[in-house]
Amino acid sequence: MAKRTASTHQSWLPEANQPTTDFPLTHLPYGAFEHEGQQRLCVAIGAHLLDLHACATSGLLPPTLIEACQAPILNPFMALGHRSWTLLRETVTTLLHADVNADRRQTAEAALHSIAGATLGRPIHIPNYTDFYASIYHATRVGQLFRPDQPLLPNYKHVPIGYHGRASSIIPSGIPVVRPIGQTRPLPEQVQPNFIPTNALDYELELALYIGQPSLIGSSVPISQATQHLFGIGLLNDWSARDIQSWEYQPLGPFLAKNFATSISPWVTPMVALEPFRAPASSRPATDPKPLPYLHSVTDQQQGNLNAKLEVFISTDTMRKNKLAPFLLSESNASDLYWTPAQLIAHHTSNGCNLQVGDVLATGTTSGPPEASAGCLLELTRNGAQPILLPTGESRTFLADGDEIILRGSCEAPGHPRIGLGECRGTILPARTS
Ligand code: MN
Repeated sequence: MAKRTASTHQSWLPEANQPTTDFPLTHLPYGAFEHEGQQRLCVAIGAHLLDLHACATSGLLPPTLIEACQAPILNPFMALGHRSWTLLRETVTTLLHADVNADRRQTAEAALHSIAGATLGRPIHIPNYTDFYASIYHATRVGQLFRPDQPLLPNYKHVPIGYHGRASSIIPSGIPVVRPIGQTRPLPEQVQPNFIPTNALDYELELALYIGQPSLIGSSVPISQATQHLFGIGLLNDWSARDIQSWEYQPLGPFLAKNFATSISPWVTPMVALEPFRAPASSRPATDPKPLPYLHSVTDQQQGNLNAKLEVFISTDTMRKNKLAPFLLSESNASDLYWTPAQLIAHHTSNGCNLQVGDVLATGTTSGPPEASAGCLLELTRNGAQPILLPTGESRTFLADGDEIILRGSCEAPGHPRIGLGECRGTILPARTS
């Protein structure tokens, strides 16, 4: 296939050619939507989604892809591997391209729906969820709060830190999050811990990395092949109850403070769409240790990171009543992460742990070097000591009931259409009363 230049990325959908769209022809993220009570797979283009099930039925897709594209989830398609990923992407690109013939265009038009009018679902069945801690800025600032004498533990620069999260409570964007109840540390005058709704509900701005090719138990994925196992990325909010977390996390790490809900964005951006936005691994000071050989590859150091701008917005009840736009809490970039996606995969499998199709490896809170670019309230408010003032005059240390958190992401590079990762939303509901 001839290499297209920016000027030839024209779709017959005019809105897909607007510089402000999240979903130009060069993006084509995968999603799922509700159609007559069934979930169907789709691809986003401009303000529309293209129904892949309908495309398969109407003869627009190659025979080898029909069954996978009529499935309600992406896993069977991901399991087909790279040749099929390329084939579907090229087919859909041609179909939506300005040069397509009138017959095919007309058939494709019949498979288009407005995204605004659709109910989006969760396109991938996620068997396993691992959450890393790949931002050294996040790790250092959180460490400063609890261990001022030793903010960054001595292992951090050698080993990508992570824990196994809970896949069952991963929820699609837009589903509300009920404030969790849990044990919190006894106050000085108390004998027993409390069992109360969390008073320190937080979000975490993260990227989800979706595994598209499995690895075998007992074998490890060399770093040079790690990106071959990656299918795509999305936005992820790792909701966290800090008071529950601080009481329970020693000695085995996060548990009920994290597993009550994790929100993911509806669109999965394929890795191939991110190629123009690859970035070098973040540079390490000369005094930092070199990663062990299994975590080092020249190619990965040159282009293993992603230049993706990530933003967090808040919208409170009062803001919505006053018709105020969501307020930007912070902004960071995935290219500041200390560990690349390939390093996370190589490390995860280095002991023989197997990856499954659909697994999510999350980056951990993505915070940048300045304090204002922190990816969670724990950092931004210094564990509640410095409240954030909102345009309504309200202030926040942690989240209040009715608050909506909106994550957004986008990639820009000269000579390439901008792509947007869409949104990951969640509103806090009051704790249950019985
Ligand atoms: Mn996290």
